[in-house]
Amino acid sequence: MLRRILLQTNKNLSSLQTTILPVSASVIVSCNPQNCQKRMASSKHGISRRLVESQKSLWVEFSKLALEHNALNLGQGFPDFQPPQFLLDALKDAAASGNYLMNQYTRGYGHARLVNAIADVYSPIMERKIDPMSEILISVGAYGSLFCSLQGMINDGDEVIIIEPFFDCYDPMVKVAGGVPVFVPLRPTKTGVSMATSSADWKLDEKELESKFNEKTKAIIINTPNNPLGKVFSREELDVIAKLCIKYDVICISDEVYEWLVFDDNKHIKIATLPGMWERTLTIGSAGKTFSATGWKLGWTIGPSDILVGAKTMHQNCNYTCPTILQEATAVGFEHELKRMGTPECYFSQLPKELEPKRDKLINLMTEMGMWPVIPQGGYFLLADITGLNIDLSQEAADEPRDFQFVKWMTKNKKLTAIPPSAFYCKEHQSVGENYVRLCFIKKDETLEKASKILREWKSSM
Ligand code: PMP
Ligand code: GLN
Repeated sequence: MLRRILLQTNKNLSSLQTTILPVSASVIVSCNPQNCQKRMASSKHGISRRLVESQKSLWVEFSKLALEHNALNLGQGFPDFQPPQFLLDALKDAAASGNYLMNQYTRGYGHARLVNAIADVYSPIMERKIDPMSEILISVGAYGSLFCSLQGMINDGDEVIIIEPFFDCYDPMVKVAGGVPVFVPLRPTKTGVSMATSSADWKLDEKELESKFNEKTKAIIINTPNNPLGKVFSREELDVIAKLCIKYDVICISDEVYEWLVFDDNKHIKIATLPGMWERTLTIGSAGKTFSATGWKLGWTIGPSDILVGAKTMHQNCNYTCPTILQEATAVGFEHELKRMGTPECYFSQLPKELEPKRDKLINLMTEMGMWPVIPQGGYFLLADITGLNIDLSQEAADEPRDFQFVKWMTKNKKLTAIPPSAFYCKEHQSVGENYVRLCFIKKDETLEKASKILREWKSSM
């Protein structure tokens, strides 16, 4: 058994780096039966100063909590069902092909068959001929695409505007690249109403947004459909953002990993297709979201070669390339769907149709509970307002935001896990997110039925 005793708490890790500890307080003992050794910790051990602030992870914390309490996990976003059969067959075929190259390094910026397939799928959507070799980069998930894009373009002190609520990694990624995040919230326009509202009711104030742009602004990150809100930005809203990007010469990083998942009559619009925007936009997608295979961790960035060059440079020096066999299978997946694009059989049309009743089930459940849902226009998450519930949270850590306390309480006492949305806000605006929980509905009907049972029993005990 490996035992590591670190004679400092996590909270003190930052001071570990800056102060030389007395020897007696800095002994790290690392033991296993074969090799038991004592070594001295020094100021050089441990995490870098730039990362200390981002050490805590929402995903680690709440996935662990769900496991510990054997709770039904509607927190972290991933399907609890199989990806489409054609994708799994493509992977099986690639493995069985006898082609040794399937198991060796492939082209660094993206396996040729995959970048070609992505160019074929997206050229008509982007309304231009995308050059697969110079205008697409394949990375390790959309995480990798975001990371490489930000590292590739930011200089120290550059400001990056982030729209709240935002996918939580944007903030640390900007900071680690040397940038300064500048936050602007989508504000709920219907508050204090005891009824379901829509993610479309959350709006940007145009004047407030413009006030964040200045000569230091390098980029803005937008996410449509938005995680966690489910907002699908309208043409008018994108026009406002585009106009400001052009006026202030700002690059737009558009995270569109949920691009196919839009409900009702909503339409996903790519900001890169707006006049004057292709030349200043990096559009990011994810095979994990597109094909319900989050563990495949393949992402892509599409954009003009003069902006993409930074991301490519970062990628070639940190990952160099992504797994060949997964890229081959994803390429085959895209080729398969390209033939039936726009038809009801196409997976990109099928999946939102499958998700819509799941979303509606959760909307109804939340409404019954008096946890007023914000009906998402897209994505696979739903925010529900917890302000109407009168739960005693006095046993939870007093220094945590209310939504964190609530999710922890619910996990322990009701065996149901969600995600606290205040994590998708900067400190200053945290109070907006604190009133909600985020629930994931890309789950089997059977899983949602279990959630329904938990919630109804809870309701009857109120
Ligand atoms: N952007 C958003 C908005 C997300 O929700 C996620 C999580 N899937 C990512 C990026 C990262 O995607 P991937 O799993 O492909 O790295
Ligand atoms: N994107 C997913 C979510 O929002 C998962 C993120 C993660 O696990 N890091 O739930």
